[in-house]
Amino acid sequence: MTVVTRFAPSPTGFLHLGSAHTALFNWLFARHHGGQFLLRIEDTDRARSTPEALEAVLDGLRWLELDWDGEAVSQFARASHHAEIAHALIDRGRAYPCYCTPEELAEMRQRAKAEGRPIRYDGRWRDRDPSDAPPGAAPAIRLKAPQDGETVIDDLIQGTVRVANAQLDDMVLLRADGTPTYMLAVVVDDHDMGITHVIRGDDHLTNAFRQTQLYYALGWEPPHFAHMPLMHGADGKKLSKRHGSVSVGDYRDMGFLPEAMRNYLLRLGWSHGDDEIISTEQAIAWFDLDGVLRSPARFDLAKLTNLNGHYIRQADNRRLTELVMPRVADLLDGELHESAEKRILRGMPELKERAKNLTELAENSSFLARRRPIPLDGKAEKLLDGEARRRLERVERDLTTFENWSAASLESYARTLSEETGAKLGKLAQPLRAALTGSNVSPPLFTVMEILGREETLGRLEDALRHH
Ligand code: GLU
Repeated sequence: MTVVTRFAPSPTGFLHLGSAHTALFNWLFARHHGGQFLLRIEDTDRARSTPEALEAVLDGLRWLELDWDGEAVSQFARASHHAEIAHALIDRGRAYPCYCTPEELAEMRQRAKAEGRPIRYDGRWRDRDPSDAPPGAAPAIRLKAPQDGETVIDDLIQGTVRVANAQLDDMVLLRADGTPTYMLAVVVDDHDMGITHVIRGDDHLTNAFRQTQLYYALGWEPPHFAHMPLMHGADGKKLSKRHGSVSVGDYRDMGFLPEAMRNYLLRLGWSHGDDEIISTEQAIAWFDLDGVLRSPARFDLAKLTNLNGHYIRQADNRRLTELVMPRVADLLDGELHESAEKRILRGMPELKERAKNLTELAENSSFLARRRPIPLDGKAEKLLDGEARRRLERVERDLTTFENWSAASLESYARTLSEETGAKLGKLAQPLRAALTGSNVSPPLFTVMEILGREETLGRLEDALRHH
């Protein structure tokens, strides 16, 4: 059997972390089995399904690099087919028109409430002759659901779950206005798309019982179901905005890398021994549903941040430079030195060792991108006291004619000078760092000097000594 999974988002205007989690598991399962990962847009809520709302969801998927096979399917576009299926079920005696008025339904609800019973349709049109129908009234179509026995699901994560059929009423398939319900649309679409495995949040587990009844009524084989525990916040409650951002796009903006996000979401609710760092290749090779944990996973920003630091250190320097340049440009209001990108690329092997996210990386890189004169922060100002300035004047003189402008020879020059003058290297290096970077922390000083080059180094020294 070729595995076919799907991700079925409603276009909400952003990709929720929980949805991304579901999408990732479907994607990995399909890729692991050499199958297909399909995308279906559940866009039947026309008010919410704007092109922008959809684009935001797709954007999130693309950023996470969860590529789908083929064209996305629009559920709304298939509505007339859903209606046909509902009518065909009437012909086969597995569904029936229901002419209940909204008032009758409201009364049923009230009575159930008053008697403390669950709200259930009482089946009053189930066996009634449609010729009893009030003239001109449009019926809803309901499933003639089994009333005895039970519906059983062998869920690949939850195990065997069952419900007594007496618990479920005859659900509406097609509303009186002719629009299909979610239950009908999902089942018909999953069937037509050839979905073999429905992997989704366990908030859909109760729907799976009704959907299974519908599969049987249609004479179709239900897919395998796998209901994953929902993601929770640190306090153990269902993840929501109260816990901070829940939109994948926000994490991109905060400077997380997609591979870090994938690794994090994978580990949230799935394990492979004690492995914490799992590359996407390994994830595809190892992923299966038996590794899915059954208890809800708690979203932990500190863990995600740690992983992100790891993936930043691993990332290609050129890619990081490209990612960080727009952020640096923002920080500096577009006032970039013409060599900004070149310098940042050269500094990247050092810069990336010290950043947990791209925002930090941009901040730490910005001193390389600035045009002179660069601003000095408070600590840098303090380092440039009278004694420090005298030392730097000497350095300035020496460097004007310094021959071999490389990190190694600049370092040995500084060491020799500090020995000669009896001052600790730090007494020289820290003020120099302050003048060249505007801060008391930076990548290794002599590497910075090599990257800046003689002219810029001398220029920044001059600025610090005479214009601050
Ligand atoms: N559109 C549904 C949701 O976003 C998913 C339905 C399903 O996976 O069956 O929750």
